Amino acid sequence: MMRQEFLQTPIEYLKGVGPQRAEILKKELGIFTFGDLLFHFPFRYVDRTRFYAVRELHAEMPYVQVKGILSGLELKGQKRQQFLTANVADATGSLQLVWFKGLRWMKESLRPNQEYIVFGKPGLFNRHLNVVHPEMELSAEAQLTFLSALQPVYNTTEKLKVRGLDSRGLLKLQKTLQQHLPPVFQETLPSTVLRDQQLMGRLEALRQVHFPSDANILKKAQYRLKFEELFFIQLRLLYQKTLRKEKSDGANFQKVGELFNSFYTNHLPFTLTEAQKRVLREIRLDCGNGKQMNRLLQGDVGSGKTLVACMSMLLALDNGYQACLMAPTEILATQHAKTLGRLLEKLPVEIALLTGSTKTAQRKKILEGLLNNSLHLLIGTHALIEEVVKFQNLGLVVIDEQHRFGVEQRAALHLKGTNGISPHVLVMTATPIPRTLAMTLYGDLDVSVIDELPPGRKSIQTLHRYDSGRLAVWGFLKREIAEGRQVYIVYPLIDESAKMDLKNLMDGYESICRDFPRPQYQASIVHGKMKAADKEFEMQRFIRGETQIMVATSVIEVGVDVPNASVMVIENAERFGLSQLHQLRGRVGRGADQSYCILMTSSKLGNDARTRIRTMVDTNDGFKISETDLQIRGAGDLQGTQQSGILDMKIANLGQDQVILQQARDSVIKMLEKDPHLALPEHLVLQAFFEERKRTNSDWSRVS
Ligand code: ADP
Ligand code: MG
Repeated sequence: MMRQEFLQTPIEYLKGVGPQRAEILKKELGIFTFGDLLFHFPFRYVDRTRFYAVRELHAEMPYVQVKGILSGLELKGQKRQQFLTANVADATGSLQLVWFKGLRWMKESLRPNQEYIVFGKPGLFNRHLNVVHPEMELSAEAQLTFLSALQPVYNTTEKLKVRGLDSRGLLKLQKTLQQHLPPVFQETLPSTVLRDQQLMGRLEALRQVHFPSDANILKKAQYRLKFEELFFIQLRLLYQKTLRKEKSDGANFQKVGELFNSFYTNHLPFTLTEAQKRVLREIRLDCGNGKQMNRLLQGDVGSGKTLVACMSMLLALDNGYQACLMAPTEILATQHAKTLGRLLEKLPVEIALLTGSTKTAQRKKILEGLLNNSLHLLIGTHALIEEVVKFQNLGLVVIDEQHRFGVEQRAALHLKGTNGISPHVLVMTATPIPRTLAMTLYGDLDVSVIDELPPGRKSIQTLHRYDSGRLAVWGFLKREIAEGRQVYIVYPLIDESAKMDLKNLMDGYESICRDFPRPQYQASIVHGKMKAADKEFEMQRFIRGETQIMVATSVIEVGVDVPNASVMVIENAERFGLSQLHQLRGRVGRGADQSYCILMTSSKLGNDARTRIRTMVDTNDGFKISETDLQIRGAGDLQGTQQSGILDMKIANLGQDQVILQQARDSVIKMLEKDPHLALPEHLVLQAFFEERKRTNSDWSRVS
């Protein structure tokens, strides 16, 4: 059988599957074909050569194996709730075994006073250590040789288990499948890559990953399969990038002109940091070569990305183009419009703000201005993406806080270019992304990093306090307010529709109003359920210093800039993810005063929550934090990655496989440098990959 046919054979044709099992394999694990099963990799291996002493066992252990004499077979319980128990004893102690199913058969087939090899997962039953439904094998009959020493353990579900498809059941299917693997199995990686990386062949890797001969070979098999997975992700991204660079003409920002220079010499409110200068140089070069720029600008909160965006947009204007800046929330867009309005106030630049709540007349004016180029700079929310928004000559799109936007939205802005010219795209994110993730999510973008904060920033002090210590915290807030500072108190509202959270917030607000009575104290409140105008009103009161306390949900997480606010209290901090906590904390520490972030939690904290809180207290470094986040949560759950199918990996793990990822990426880059269109005979094997891609990803090419 050809490789392709074999892999695509419907799973019901495998011996031992049949229609019913096929149905639940599809439903529960997404296994439709032989190929799907083959790529359902073990998530763990058990060493069947290792025997534990009974005394060593505890309930947290994974599957273990002990050897001992069987005794005390006994049926217990009443009719329907009957179960079978027995003991197995070695020199160090005795372990209880329990069966709830197949009692009669078990009772008859087990032989007391014989030595058995018992395999299973230790657990607690009536506070006694035991193993439920162990695998039993007479020592005398044990043929460990036919088992691989490292036995695979497969992910499965309750529904599958009922059908006999527990890990062991799946293992049997894998065995059957292995017997049918065609002897010739087409390679997917070019031979040069296989050679350079000294990779195991594909067929052998697929055999060894399920039934490894030993730990060493298993490592090689896993390496090969991880490499392959990451290689193709990188190939997709980098090949796309190559094509894009060839095809799409970008607006050519050849000159640094009047606006840029005048701003730089006369209106810059402070000296640029070295990092800001470097990034601006990178952007200028990238926008001045006739090719379209796609750049990710990473910089920790407060690193001054807005200024970089502003000056990049001036560059566009200097060259006769328009520019736009898109922000994820109305508050943020409004704030950007104000900031830019202030920065550019002395320059002949027309700026407008377009959001969902822009009035019709104003909107009409804006749309006209865009078309006749009397409007140069448009700032707004998703509203910018709408089809009616047409520019005469859009040269640069800046997207702030990328993680809120999907890939499709990036693509939509792209299409707003005119005369066959694609606008340059600058994506700014304050969510530092671990390198591995950046290479994967944004592997098709060029990356600039602002790795330096403006001078004079005092690092934020982060403290952890339990709810029981609230009184002392409130006392601290009062002292800070007495010094003229402002404070944020943030409540979790993870899902804006969650009623409980909203109630929590309102209760919190009420009790704050009680504890901080008017007229001495004034508190604002902002949350997602409020009308945009009301939100804006409250924000403005706070920005103007008319209120000292801002009670809010995480809507203020991004971007809002009130330098006089120096304390951030985060309620139920255990409910926030790490990167979100870091984002929130970034709202303070923007002025000259010492700033504080106080994480309030209940006294009961799970392990992960404890790690998150400790990490926050220990470091202000966004990149460190994002690495920890990746370790705790895994890539799929990181903020902003949910929409990205790219991260559904079968075997590679971005938290652990940095080295392999780098190798794979380097390898793709080397290959594309030598053969940008993959036309060399040695690259023919990659055609299958491109065929596949054409079928599944028709609109990938429009993206970024
Ligand atoms: P972010 O990168 O989080 O978007 P902002 O652009 O909002 O950061 O900048 C944070 C604060 O730092 C703003 O108040 C801004 O005016 C200020 N800032 C930016 N660049 C500099 C600089 N080079 N020197 C001093 N302050 C700066
Ligand atoms: Mg910002």
